[in-house]
Amino acid sequence: MLLPIVLLAACNPKNEPVRLQGEAQGTYYTIAYYDEQHRNLQPQIDSLLHDFDLTASLWEENSIIRKVNRHEDSVINDMFNDLLEKSWTINEYTNGAFNCEIGALVNLYGFGFKNREDVTEHQIDSLLSYVRSSETIVGTFVEDSIYKKIFLSEGVELDFNAIAQGYSVDFIARMFDSLGIESYLIDVGGEVIAKGLKHNGEPWTVGIERPAENKYSEQEIETAIGLHDMSVVTSGNYRKYYEKDGVRYSHTIDPATGRPVSHSLLSVSVVSREAWYADAMATSFMVMGLEKSLQFIAEHPDNPDIQAVFFIYDDHGEYKTYATPEFQQLIIEK
Ligand code: AMP
Ligand code: MG
Repeated sequence: MLLPIVLLAACNPKNEPVRLQGEAQGTYYTIAYYDEQHRNLQPQIDSLLHDFDLTASLWEENSIIRKVNRHEDSVINDMFNDLLEKSWTINEYTNGAFNCEIGALVNLYGFGFKNREDVTEHQIDSLLSYVRSSETIVGTFVEDSIYKKIFLSEGVELDFNAIAQGYSVDFIARMFDSLGIESYLIDVGGEVIAKGLKHNGEPWTVGIERPAENKYSEQEIETAIGLHDMSVVTSGNYRKYYEKDGVRYSHTIDPATGRPVSHSLLSVSVVSREAWYADAMATSFMVMGLEKSLQFIAEHPDNPDIQAVFFIYDDHGEYKTYATPEFQQLIIEK
């Protein structure tokens, strides 16, 4: 697919970064990088993102994940394996709040929750038995260290959406690293990684979105942070959700109940060294809710990758934010 491309770099002075914009994964990307040769890396970036979709996108009919979910005899690649392993690592770390086997339940509710009214207790319970089973992935199979196949038990569907966008940001970052580009800012749909400093010696500036009133609201920036060799990812319930009897249900499913989470947490932004990690933890915190997340962070004081800010409506309907001390240090303006 050909996408509209804006290349703003054409006649930049030498100390200005190359700036690219494009579309991927149903959203936008904007990328800035310092490169003495002022190379236009857009074709490489687009092809990288396309390759990524062919592995992990649920919207790509013939992606590996779709084939695996159809229980076809699919050959998986290193990236798929890596996504799976990372997902299990976070699953264990978060005591199950994060679970890439949630796919069948996400589908049950339907994209945008189109089937939500028809969902029965019985359906939820029967799909939950797959999510909770440790036997769901029957095994992977390596042949001549090339063909790697995966077999899912009947009923199980994988979903990497909670980690995929962040992972793709890291994927582009690795490409820049391999090209010797030492200073860049990559933003795919609001999931960001910043490496090095700008040429004026300052860190890259990233706006943290204020949770919008509803899915139609304009984007507003709550605060700005300075990022240096770090990534920031936001998960929220204000873009994808449905409302019933005045309660908002997000597109995040609690694997413990099989139901969309519904609590006062509007959104959470997580700062980590790698974007896949920030992405996975932001989703996990949306599942846990504010209190459990703050407790989790307190119980893991040595983890530098869970610097976070939480946006909530408290019991009185008042808008509040909670930031970890490490996150507060990143704030450069209010
Ligand atoms: P994110 O926007 O990164 O928070 O990802 C949300 C998406 O991840 C949802 O649209 C689902 O496809 C998937 N998802 C929902 N609940 C979970 C969960 N508990 N663990 C892992 N993925 C989930
Ligand atoms: Mg996520």
